[in-house]
Amino acid sequence: MSLEALDELYKEVILDHYQNPRNSKPLQQVSVTTEGYNPVCGDQIKLQILVHDGAIEALAVLGKGCAISQAAASMMTEAVKGKTVEEAEALARTFRDFMTDDKVEPDSLGDLEVLEGVRKFPVRIKCATLSWNTLQEALKEHRQGLKEGRVVIKD
Ligand code: ZN
Repeated sequence: MSLEALDELYKEVILDHYQNPRNSKPLQQVSVTTEGYNPVCGDQIKLQILVHDGAIEALAVLGKGCAISQAAASMMTEAVKGKTVEEAEALARTFRDFMTDDKVEPDSLGDLEVLEGVRKFPVRIKCATLSWNTLQEALKEHRQGLKEGRVVIKD
């Protein structure tokens, strides 16, 4: 799929995130690092999150791959930064539903709505959800780490 197939507005927003990815600077302090890979397209995401007081205080995506995967990752970081772990998990679920079921209305998704056009291209849905799956992994690992007392807590 080329971006040509997407609406102008959508294309603009996606290209902007792809060319100027947000939160792409490695973090100094990291609670959890996870990596995601989409073999269908070759997209790679390395995600760092810093959780403080139950909220995602900072996060960074270091990735490479197609425009959809990298733009979606950039948008993901903006969408969850400052949110609590629970809010971020809920958003990840909503986003996944939105991408895989066209009956889901994007009420609470804000800018993430621009990825709606990707739903028409099933192969590309994995590109759009890769960063969110990687985030869910990170949050799961963080939760587990807290339980086992081995998670890095910000001083
Ligand atoms: Zn891709």
